[in-house]
Amino acid sequence: MMIYTLSALAVIGFSIFYLFFYRNWRRERRLQQPFPGHWQKMLGAQVPVYNKLPPELRNQLEQHVQLFLAEKSFYGCDGFEVDDTVRVTIAGHACLLIVARDFSDFDEVSSILVYPDAYHVREVESDGIVVSESSQIRAGEASSRGQVVLAWAECEEGAINPSGHHNVILHEFAHQLDYLDGTADGAPPLSGEQARQWQETMTRAYEDLRHSLRHHRKPWLDPYGATEPAEFFAVLTEAFFQRPDHLITEQPAVYKALCEFYRLDPRWGE
Ligand SMILES: [Zn+2]
Repeated sequence: MMIYTLSALAVIGFSIFYLFFYRNWRRERRLQQPFPGHWQKMLGAQVPVYNKLPPELRNQLEQHVQLFLAEKSFYGCDGFEVDDTVRVTIAGHACLLIVARDFSDFDEVSSILVYPDAYHVREVESDGIVVSESSQIRAGEASSRGQVVLAWAECEEGAINPSGHHNVILHEFAHQLDYLDGTADGAPPLSGEQARQWQETMTRAYEDLRHSLRHHRKPWLDPYGATEPAEFFAVLTEAFFQRPDHLITEQPAVYKALCEFYRLDPRWGE
C-alpha cells in the first residue's frame, strides 16, 4: 500500500514539476532563439494580417508560432507532404487567435493532420436498433482529444482571402478554445460577470440568426453558424478576424464580447 502511495505522490510531483517549471523553462529557452527570417517571409505571404499587426502583437505572434512549431506534431495524410509553408501557414493562423492571450490556451493541442484536399469520412450511427452509414466530405475537424484535421486546399483558400467568409484554420482552432472548459458549448472559458454577459449576448444573437433563417431573411452570418452553439462560436470567430467591420455593424454587442475574450480589436490600424 505504502509503495503505491509513494508512486502516486511521485507521479503527481513530477506532473506539477513538468507543468509549472520544466515546460515554462523549456519555452523560455526556445524563445531565446531568433525567429528565422524565412519564417517571417512566409508569415508575411501566407498570413496577410501579420503585415498589419502592431509591432508588439507581431512579435507576440512570432513567439507563439515558434512554440507551436516546436511542440505540435504535423502529419501528412493521403500522401500529402507537410513542408515549412504548410506548417507556418497553419501555425500563423492558429496563433492569431491567441496572439493577445497566453500560449497555454493551446496546451491540449498535440497534433495536426493535413489532407491535400477535402476528405471523405464514413460515419456509422446506431440508435440501438438500426445502424446507418453515411459518407461526408469535410474541410476540417477538431477533437477534444487535442487533434485538429485540416484540408490544405481549404487552408490555402482562406489564407489568400483574408477578408473572405471562411477560414478553416481559424474555425477549427476556435473549437479547440471552446473545448478548454471541457465542453463544446460555444462558450470558451470565462468567469463571473464576463461569463454571464457572454451567455446573454450570444444566446440573443444565436436566436436572432436562427430567426432570420426561418423567415428567409438575409442572415448576418454564415448559416452554418446556426446549426449549434459550438459552430456559432467557430463561425463568429472567422467573421470577427476576417470581416470585423461587417460584424461590428451587424452585432456590436457580440463584437464587444469577442474583443474582450480575444483581448484585441482586429480592425487593425483604424
Ligand atoms: Zn465547426
